[in-house]
Amino acid sequence: MAVHWLLICHGLITLIVVVSFLCGQWPIFQGTPISSIHRFITFGAYQYFLKLVGAVFGDKGINSILSVEYYCCDRSNPILQIIYLAIIGSTYYIIVKTSFQYIPGYYLSGVHRYTSLLAVAIGILLFLLTSFSNPGTVTVDNVSHYLSVYPYDNIIYTKKECSTCKLPKPARSKHCSICNRCVARFDHHCGWMNNCIGERNTRYFLAFLLWHFLICMYATIAIGLVLAGRLKELKIVYILTVYYGVENSFRSLAPHIIQWLLGSYNSQILLMVFMAIVSLLLAGFFAYHAKLCLTNTTTNETFKWQDYVSWQKKLSEARASSVALKASIDRMDSERKPPDNKCKSFFRRSPLENTEAVAKNNVYDKGFFHNLYEVIFPVPTRASHSHTKSKSG
Ligand SMILES: [Zn+2]
Ligand SMILES: [Zn+2]
Repeated sequence: MAVHWLLICHGLITLIVVVSFLCGQWPIFQGTPISSIHRFITFGAYQYFLKLVGAVFGDKGINSILSVEYYCCDRSNPILQIIYLAIIGSTYYIIVKTSFQYIPGYYLSGVHRYTSLLAVAIGILLFLLTSFSNPGTVTVDNVSHYLSVYPYDNIIYTKKECSTCKLPKPARSKHCSICNRCVARFDHHCGWMNNCIGERNTRYFLAFLLWHFLICMYATIAIGLVLAGRLKELKIVYILTVYYGVENSFRSLAPHIIQWLLGSYNSQILLMVFMAIVSLLLAGFFAYHAKLCLTNTTTNETFKWQDYVSWQKKLSEARASSVALKASIDRMDSERKPPDNKCKSFFRRSPLENTEAVAKNNVYDKGFFHNLYEVIFPVPTRASHSHTKSKSG
């Protein structure tokens, strides 16, 4: 029995740590232990560690730690790529070791031994494709092409030159300080891929996210079916109802079955929980990026639009008459506003609030299908087609 509680505690702690790490900065968690844990994991623990190193090894120790940090966070390096391969490799190995002995089983045929390997292989292939493909580096040869394909909207993009590359900066491009190059239709620099996500590899990145979400779902369901098969093969329900006289209803059987599963197949249960959490995170991440693609925006542009909207707000506030402004300031001084509802403020601060402004002003949004087409067939591919067409025509 103690083992079960240990397992449940382990699962709960893992869940709290994962949620705190990934979502602790969300306004909805402000002032809760989740945000404190997030601060500790992302910043606090490192600061304490630096202080400890300083106390033991002095400035030399701190400097060497800072240079390691610079290499890991601010320079192009394969650390996260290796971690990704280790995670996918070890997870697949654990599944093979713990669950393949039950395949074929009551609900799963032997073919899943091979389809699972194929699914992982395709996942790694998509990872390599995203990692090592050209994201759309702006060069002397293609800069004029990108300048003509992406016109300046004069809202979030104006005519500029990259001070590092010494090249004109096409609209929608950004200079990546980690890769030290300008990337067309820049989305973000992905540490896991050790590559920028831009005009040419957004399609691979989206496929990677979708495929990994599907793999995790597949693993969760397959392991679930393995366990259901074991229940059936070992006639657990029959034994419980006939030998132990447990009433044959879901409510009375469920606790016994869960207890039996936790006792006999705890590694499979842990794998299922892990896979389900990861698949949920991937689903959210994929949905976010799919929405960006369908509206022809990028992660980089969402921040730019946020700045634009807040700048617009400030501008309209400044335009208000000084009397009205003064009156509102007086009112603000005299009345204390009730604190915002956590849920309300969560949505208020969400970047989704800017959707209207983006939809109204985004000149690159050319409709649902065209936007999707642009991501799947990046501009140089299409442009070279139209170029050859016009040449031949
Ligand atoms: Zn540049
Ligand atoms: Zn980069």
